[in-house]
Amino acid sequence: MKLLHASLLFTNDGPPVVNADLTLTDEGVIVEIGSGGANNKNDYRDVIIPAFINAHCHLELSHLKGLIRERENGMTGFIRQLLSQRFLFSDAVQQEAMQLADQSMLEEGIVAVGDISNFTSSAGTKKNSRLYYHTFIELFGLENAKVEEMVLNGISMVNEFRGAPHLSSSLSPHAPYSMVQDLFKEISRVVHPIDPLTIHMQESEDEILFCKDKSGPLAEFFASAGISTTDFIPFGDVRPLRQILPLIPRANRLQLVHNTYTAEEEIVAALKRRPKLSWCLCPSANLFITGDLPPVEALFRNDAHVTIGTDSLASNQKLSVLNELKLISKNFPMVPFATLVKWSTLNGAEFLGVANRFGKIKPGMNPGLVSLHGLNHDELVLHEQVTCKRVA
Ligand SMILES: [Zn+2]
Repeated sequence: MKLLHASLLFTNDGPPVVNADLTLTDEGVIVEIGSGGANNKNDYRDVIIPAFINAHCHLELSHLKGLIRERENGMTGFIRQLLSQRFLFSDAVQQEAMQLADQSMLEEGIVAVGDISNFTSSAGTKKNSRLYYHTFIELFGLENAKVEEMVLNGISMVNEFRGAPHLSSSLSPHAPYSMVQDLFKEISRVVHPIDPLTIHMQESEDEILFCKDKSGPLAEFFASAGISTTDFIPFGDVRPLRQILPLIPRANRLQLVHNTYTAEEEIVAALKRRPKLSWCLCPSANLFITGDLPPVEALFRNDAHVTIGTDSLASNQKLSVLNELKLISKNFPMVPFATLVKWSTLNGAEFLGVANRFGKIKPGMNPGLVSLHGLNHDELVLHEQVTCKRVA
């Protein structure tokens, strides 16, 4: 048995507990939550919250850390740089980078990750990790003739992940600008209703322009790379979010990632259609790629189910959920601390389908515990100096 004391405990299961005493097993299962300091102060901690859920990551891109130039021609420039560098490195270099990234997430208080993969090269790291991973096998393609083969290939990768103990996996669409309608239809046909789905959404003006009438920097990029866009039917004046939502089965949990260029009226309309939608924020990556931030205030005002992601080391210096929260707190001070805790813990666990294990501090659960140091208890502002440590 282990005893922990928190001057303030956020459980996501009722109001915060002042002077909380936590009893847990050596494996981290919560046994009892008391208050008033009856237990010995074996281990004094500041503010304790459930461990973080990183709802959007690309472990496969870890070897690109520090190699991509910031804000060089927006998202299209980012994609160009990514593709020109991604395949230049040996498998050994990639494996080592993924293991270091996995270890760094553990140190940053992360307990579970929703990870986008295009290959199965991350399976080894994930099998040996102390973190829980759900792998989204991401599909994209602009040619109708290749859809069937792509989906079959995707299913075989999903099965490879699922074949390993503790690893879960499902197919997911990449983004509105990189897929023909037939690919959406085929993914919808083969996914199981309990699979979570995730898609990058309205991340850049380039995306919106291409989807509208196949113009702009993305169209130029596809042409220069010899990628045919003949089968892609432009959306005209319908925005990508509105165009794509009906193509994704309503039975599945769905997470929209980035949402940088989504207006409040679009959020309201989407929530009318799908109230349980998850909206994943990766603000560091947005600043890195386009320089703009997502509509955090509008999402908060509309009580949207927000999750937090780090994106990859290609577009972020660190895989730290706490860093993302600090950036949100600095730019959107109206979002209360307790809400940021919920977004970065329980909401991600709910989206990934693991809320029975993670996201709440409650007897019987084993959520992982993170202590936050340097917070002023009267204000609870996640300023730059706040640090986190995994304590269970
Ligand atoms: Zn991403």
